[in-house]
Amino acid sequence: MEAMTPTDLPFAEWLPRQRWYAGRNQRLTEVSAAAVTALREDLELVLLDVHYADGDAERYQVPVLWADGEHADLPGASTIGTVRGRTAYDALYDSAAARHLLELCAAGATRGAVAFGAEPGVELPVGAAPRLTGVEQSNTSVVFGDQAILKVFRRVNTGINPDIELNRVLGNAGNRHVARLLASFETTWDGQPCPLGMVTAFAAGAAEGWALATAAATRRYTDAEDGDFTETSFRLGQAVSSVHAALAAELGTASGVFAVDSALARLDSACAAVPELLPYQSTIADIFKSVAGQSIVVQRVHGDLHLGQVLRTPSSWLVIDFEGEPGAPLEERRRPDSPLRDVAGMLRSYEYAASQPLVGRDDQDFAAALDWSGQGRGAFCDGYADVAGFDPRQAGPVLAAYELDKAVYETAYEARYRTDWLPIPLRSIATLTGTAPPD
Ligand code: ATP
Ligand code: MG
Repeated sequence: MEAMTPTDLPFAEWLPRQRWYAGRNQRLTEVSAAAVTALREDLELVLLDVHYADGDAERYQVPVLWADGEHADLPGASTIGTVRGRTAYDALYDSAAARHLLELCAAGATRGAVAFGAEPGVELPVGAAPRLTGVEQSNTSVVFGDQAILKVFRRVNTGINPDIELNRVLGNAGNRHVARLLASFETTWDGQPCPLGMVTAFAAGAAEGWALATAAATRRYTDAEDGDFTETSFRLGQAVSSVHAALAAELGTASGVFAVDSALARLDSACAAVPELLPYQSTIADIFKSVAGQSIVVQRVHGDLHLGQVLRTPSSWLVIDFEGEPGAPLEERRRPDSPLRDVAGMLRSYEYAASQPLVGRDDQDFAAALDWSGQGRGAFCDGYADVAGFDPRQAGPVLAAYELDKAVYETAYEARYRTDWLPIPLRSIATLTGTAPPD
């Protein structure tokens, strides 16, 4: 059977309706198929180049399943379009197509430029029932039974994918706070590897840190005796510290400095967009500059750590999603940074988890929120110190600079997308700069 031509499909209408599409704030001018690889006679792996009016471009991955007429079992959201009597679907919604991707990994197959492969000694659960999850995320994931999770990257780039790389390194080092890497697949582009997806061991019965934390914070407001999150935060601190120590041992450390110029640039652009930030601008800038000359230890880190990136299994905490910011080039995402960047991300997340149950309520008890997050943050740092042998709080101004950098970013985000949440980072900025909080 002749492969259909994906360029005939109305991708320009379909893509903007997908949660993982990142171009909503830009004007899409053209979508073209950069590569089409036949995986099966009715299944193609398509890479799309999306061009925007401002000259930017992005590459997306869409596995496409073709069916004669309508495929009765697939939801409307998966339908890309119909060309010459055949309908194209996002193949990840189809169980058999998703399983085929896992089978290709198990077989170590090559299709065109696309190479699939399992990690040494791994047997993939190709017989397990696939279930689509994570359609509301940056990538799309399919769970097989309760054994493996296949994550198909949506925005793709050439280079080494840090999620695959660091899971492999940490797994091989025997670290028990990551999901074991089972397989991955990639293509090549301009002679360079271009990672497309990965399979990791599925943590059955795991709960997301964010859900646990917000539930505990909510309990604190409704029943002041309950809502304790300190014990589990201590263990989370130990887990993150253990991951940092393993990354340092496996991939090395170096001497570096706080990236003051980029922090100041982010501050300037956030201040231009968020007038509420202006009263703090000079104090924040002074804090950034005060740590600029200080030598700090840098190493490979997670890069985007928060309570939504950790899972609590019945036996331990797992750190997941080492991919960093999907919009940034892979080289930038792999740049060594201070582990304090991750610690600060986690500490910021505690403030969010504490305040989230209060958003939109009249009876906001921010004193209780600060109390709850203060205890969780303290316990997290205690747990971190227990493994690292050094307490992140001892880094004082450097830790504050990383927290401020993150909180500044948050104000710009909230002012743009969720104004109800803007008081959360503003309140933290007031505390971190030692200024009176806004009314
Ligand atoms: P995001 O948009 O949040 O960056 P993502 O598409 O990069 O998400 P992940 O964060 O890796 O995807 O995973 C999405 C969700 O899938 C997680 O929040 C978690 O609930 C679940 N998940 C991921 N990996 C595992 C695993 N190994 N075991 C169990 N659940 C997992
Ligand atoms: Mg992600």
